[in-house]
Amino acid sequence: MQEVTILGATGSIGKSTLDVILRHPDRFSVFALTAHQQIDLLREQCLACTPKYAVLHSEADASLLQQQLKQKGLTTEVLYGEQGLIYVAGHVKVDTVMAAIVGAAGLLPTLAAAEAGKKVLLANKESLVMAGRLFMDAVKANAATLLPIDSEHNAIFQCLPHQQRRLSSALGVSRILLTGSGGPFLSMPLEQLSHVTVEQACAHPKWSMGRKISVDSATMMNKGLELIEACWLFDADSCDIDVVIHPQSIVHSMVQYHDGSTLAQLGNPDMRTPIAYGLAWPDRIDAGVEALDFYRLSQLEFAAPDEQRFPCLRLAGEAWRTGKTASAVLNAANEVAVDAFLNKKIAFTAIAEINEQVLNRANLAEPHSIDVVIQADLQARALARELL
Ligand code: NAD
Ligand code: MG
Repeated sequence: MQEVTILGATGSIGKSTLDVILRHPDRFSVFALTAHQQIDLLREQCLACTPKYAVLHSEADASLLQQQLKQKGLTTEVLYGEQGLIYVAGHVKVDTVMAAIVGAAGLLPTLAAAEAGKKVLLANKESLVMAGRLFMDAVKANAATLLPIDSEHNAIFQCLPHQQRRLSSALGVSRILLTGSGGPFLSMPLEQLSHVTVEQACAHPKWSMGRKISVDSATMMNKGLELIEACWLFDADSCDIDVVIHPQSIVHSMVQYHDGSTLAQLGNPDMRTPIAYGLAWPDRIDAGVEALDFYRLSQLEFAAPDEQRFPCLRLAGEAWRTGKTASAVLNAANEVAVDAFLNKKIAFTAIAEINEQVLNRANLAEPHSIDVVIQADLQARALARELL
């Protein structure tokens, strides 16, 4: 029986994770669920799976939920704040941690899971983008198991050699092909991009996701963050990875070998597939996802990305090559800019402009410690807010 903590249980990935877990009561038991403020949904989730702990952001919300659960006869203990998140991520009784908080807020709890040697199911790509070296070192030093949940990285993991899931020329691997749908604005005339609405940006043609990652998909910053994520996960350099536009989102990424082979992982665009893979690895279990019907797949298209349309993709490549705290800076600027766009304070095209200016202006440092990374994040947020 695997004891599972779900960080960010009320989000899109969190809900899909619970869906898979509840299909397999013989394999998984929920140890803890966390949410930022969605107290009603967290209560319903607690009633469905009776965790030992629940965590909310504020003390007031936590004591309200504690009261409500007690009235329903549950013994779940409700904690609050970052310390609560870190506690349930590193608890000795936990086997597996689903890291599905959105943004930089996921960094310390996800790192705590790695430091406690857990099986870490990584959806929170921002923690790797911010602190890749420190995070990978923590995984190694504490013999944690790191399994990528981001669909592309999960696909790459599946297609890499089983002996070593890395871009190893010695094992015959030549390139990684990171696919991306191109989002809702792939073929919109460029001059219209500055006028798109929040609703249009969040209406992803293929995936149903949280609002932040939906906007990141529309700017393709998501693919930029994923490029950096892939470099850390698979010991690769950005020049060994090609981003490939694939609007149908059926091929979730590919790996090429020196012998001319290209291995791909295909499936319907449903995050329950990579989540089930991570939960049951190395076994395979039912995820509730329908198999592909090849008689009904009309066509699969592939193309190179247009850097003029998607400047954020270029910025991410630059941040990776610059090194130091550049990726943490870019991630922080982007979180501020996306939040401002979602609150209708800036135009869609201003997201990339703010990201570029912050990346050019920030003081970069060697990320020797998590404090350096957090300082870089705070400085970049302040710079981005000045530009809004
Ligand atoms: P979401 O917005 O739907 O959910 C976010 C979750 O994090 C919620 O439970 C929320 O309560 C919690 N949260 C938000 N801010 C918090 C804070 N400050 N402190 C603690 N908890 C907080 O997001 P999502 O779409 O599920 O994405 C989660 C992560 O997974 C992101 O890093 C995203 O990039 C990654 N991811 C998502 C998808 C997807 O299909 N949704 C795919 C690949 C990767
Ligand atoms: Mg992805």
